[in-house]
Amino acid sequence: MKEKTALVTGSSRGIGRSIALNLAQRGFKVAINYYNGGNDAGEHLEQAQEVLQEVQTMGAEGIIIGADVSVAESATALVDQTIEKWGRLDVLVNNAAINQDQLLLRVSDDLWDLILKTNLYSAFYCSRTAVRYMIKKRYGRIINISSVVGLAGNIGQTCYAASKSGLLGLTCSIAKEYGARGVTANIIAPGFIESDMTRQLPAEVSARMIAQIPAGRLGKADDVANLVCFLATPEASYINGQTIRIDGGMSI
Ligand code: NAP
Repeated sequence: MKEKTALVTGSSRGIGRSIALNLAQRGFKVAINYYNGGNDAGEHLEQAQEVLQEVQTMGAEGIIIGADVSVAESATALVDQTIEKWGRLDVLVNNAAINQDQLLLRVSDDLWDLILKTNLYSAFYCSRTAVRYMIKKRYGRIINISSVVGLAGNIGQTCYAASKSGLLGLTCSIAKEYGARGVTANIIAPGFIESDMTRQLPAEVSARMIAQIPAGRLGKADDVANLVCFLATPEASYINGQTIRIDGGMSI
């Protein structure tokens, strides 16, 4: 994968960080994106710098690009800057997302807009720019990180679930439009993955979550990253328009 390049949105921490590191370990050049908060990047930039340092320690190349992917201009610039840096973009992982739980009756228009723009519009903006380039090269991998919540909904997560379901239509349409030109688009739908949030949960809540999972444990960010890495390879060229759940069997 030495010459291949990947852009992972929201890769300064969490699952995105793990995806960036795992791609770098396999030789990809990786663009690390964090949300610059509009003003003072502060600790967000520091986290991205730590990821870059790890990438470089592995002997891989990386670049940090601060961009708010919920805004069309900055999402487009993010993809363009990655292509300018290395002259190619092989893999786009739309990972950046936010969630703020709220029952439907309490969801404000602003909250709906914020979550839809951050989680769904962002994937549209980045994919549109990336695909324009990928079809010329007749190679591309679009990998959209959804959630099992996007497939089944969840109490208090109307906005989040709708944004993650929306990725399905986007992904399948890209798969149909550009499959013949070497571009694949797929969805990964994680279940409960260990995160800063799950680490703070009371033991009994964690135990209840784990009881629903045949694998008997929460997922790890690396579990998701390993699947991304496979979908990113030329060997995955016949997997297109699919939603792959990675949830330890929770949904069977
Ligand atoms: P996380 O720890 O909250 O990290 C989110 C990342 O997205 C951060 O790097 C954040 O950057 C970035 N981000 C947020 N808003 C952004 C914006 N407007 N522009 C650019 N970057 C932005 O999330 P996570 O738990 O790793 O989740 C990663 C993905 O997996 C998400 O798509 C999530 O929906 C999905 N997922 C997670 C789980 C889970 O259990 N964790 C389960 C199912 C699906 P800053 O740090 O700079 O804000």
